[in-house]
Amino acid sequence: MGYKQIVAAAKKEGRTALTEIESKEILKEAGIATTDIRLARTRDEAVSAAREVGLPVVVKVVSPDVLHKSDSGGVKLNLRTEKAVGKAFDDIMAAMKKNQPKARIIGVAVQKMARPGVEVIIGMSKDPQFGPVLMFGLGGVLVEVLKDVSFRIVPLVERDAREMIREIKGYPILEGYRGQEPANTGILEDYLLKVSKFVDKRPEIKELDINPVFAYKDGAVAVDARVILES
Ligand code: ADP
Ligand code: MG
Repeated sequence: MGYKQIVAAAKKEGRTALTEIESKEILKEAGIATTDIRLARTRDEAVSAAREVGLPVVVKVVSPDVLHKSDSGGVKLNLRTEKAVGKAFDDIMAAMKKNQPKARIIGVAVQKMARPGVEVIIGMSKDPQFGPVLMFGLGGVLVEVLKDVSFRIVPLVERDAREMIREIKGYPILEGYRGQEPANTGILEDYLLKVSKFVDKRPEIKELDINPVFAYKDGAVAVDARVILES
């Protein structure tokens, strides 16, 4: 499914939140690498999807109503056997019944477990005055606790992308800290410019969150994504 079909389907169902699978389809169209991902509606489908993408995998709940998947027990990482995948499916369904009883559950997403990298965030939100604004920051605790992020107004020029990556306090972490693999900042700049260009042409996108992107020396991959449409 392409961008237009995904947006049309969501509108028809009366929802503005796109699922991770739909959001990653859209990112692919924007030129951003994502993890190989499959929708599975049953336990058996989850196991065959894992076989298709190749172990180890991650299994996550797919629901337009569950925005913070791990908080509600909807993310199972690093599953190394088919048995573990089947159990993850059951555990996620049980967790949803308990923690999100009203949520519409479409199924689970089965995707490749990405190797660890530097976790960064790329986001777009709309400012009432400036319109679409891009955000960049380090992922995880660093963004939640330290709010170490930078912003630029869309459309970005190359210099904006360069600067926003370099002006965060955590920049040394991207350069490789204590023997940790550095992140390829050229690719991250390219992703910022691609997201800017993509959302600039599509005013119907209200919010876009790639949280996190795993950045490596030789690449970067979106492991989670969420797009919210204007209502
Ligand atoms: P949430 O809705 O809670 O943000 P995420 O999809 O971001 O759910 O998953 C939570 C965390 O699990 C991520 O921040 C990341 O560290 C890890 N994770 C998610 N997907 C993958 C993946 N495909 N490979 C490796 N780690 C992953
Ligand atoms: Mg996330």
